[in-house]
Amino acid sequence: MARRRRKSRGRKLILAVAALCLAAVYPLQEQLTDGGGDSRGAGNAAAEDVSAAASDVFRDGSTLEVHFLDVGQGDATLIRCGEAAMLIDAGNNSWGDDVRDYLEYQSIGDLDYVIGTHPDADHIGGLDVVMEAFDCGTVIMPDYEKDTQTYTDVTDVMEEKGYELTLPQVGMVYELGEAAFTIVAPNGEYGDNANDYSVGILLEHGENRFLLTGDAEEDSEADMLDNGIDLSADVLKAAHHGSRTANTEAFLERVNPEYVVISCGEGNSYGHPHAEVLNRLREMGIKVFRTDEEGTVVATSDGAGITFNVPPSESWQAGEPKG
Ligand SMILES: [Zn+2]
Repeated sequence: MARRRRKSRGRKLILAVAALCLAAVYPLQEQLTDGGGDSRGAGNAAAEDVSAAASDVFRDGSTLEVHFLDVGQGDATLIRCGEAAMLIDAGNNSWGDDVRDYLEYQSIGDLDYVIGTHPDADHIGGLDVVMEAFDCGTVIMPDYEKDTQTYTDVTDVMEEKGYELTLPQVGMVYELGEAAFTIVAPNGEYGDNANDYSVGILLEHGENRFLLTGDAEEDSEADMLDNGIDLSADVLKAAHHGSRTANTEAFLERVNPEYVVISCGEGNSYGHPHAEVLNRLREMGIKVFRTDEEGTVVATSDGAGITFNVPPSESWQAGEPKG
């Protein structure tokens, strides 16, 4: 039950929320200063005030927010549009409580959709905690099981709460408030490469498009290029934490994003993001955001334009593999 112990990181995530709110709703600075702790504790009133004010600014039903949570080396993405909400992955086991706290702080009621992109622990590790805490509508995971405690924890909670597994069907479109998303991957069989089974989605809101493909690597990217779906997007979440086993030149050229968000852990041992990928992005003139440097990154779409809570990273600092 180690995953239930890590409280300190909760503060880090909450601070990220506070930072977002400060950036977006700066007159509320005073209320936030004592509202950064436990959302059910003394700071609760302030948290509600912030949330209510944020509604006036952002949640008029026509905005979409994509929160790329800082969960260290892993992925967790919260997407909300009006009253609708969806979570893609929840970081490693040790981050489950923090992701849950973040959702609570964001006043999320239910999750209309939950996607576990693939069974690796840095993606579905925290999902059991979140799925226990929030009622979930459609739960999508690939047809690829893993014989691990982490995977069993997720399926146990699904059974306990009566959630049915929905397998991803490429081309299937789901509504999320005024936004919609299309399943774009996986497109085939990939042996024992769990990454390539990652569920990929293309999220559309007005004129804006976001592409998120989990840890899909070269083979899956090649199949996405062949599946007939228009993959062009304004925002791409770099696949596999910016690894060079993904984010191929052909894929990036087809997607042709203006922005790329990289979710990876500071000083991670895998050397993410890889220099080759960063160079590719830089040469293409793409603006890059990084959770390892900037914490939680939030993109907000009004249907026409997209704004971010932080400026792009300009470090172009590659990860250094260890061991
Ligand atoms: Zn991963």
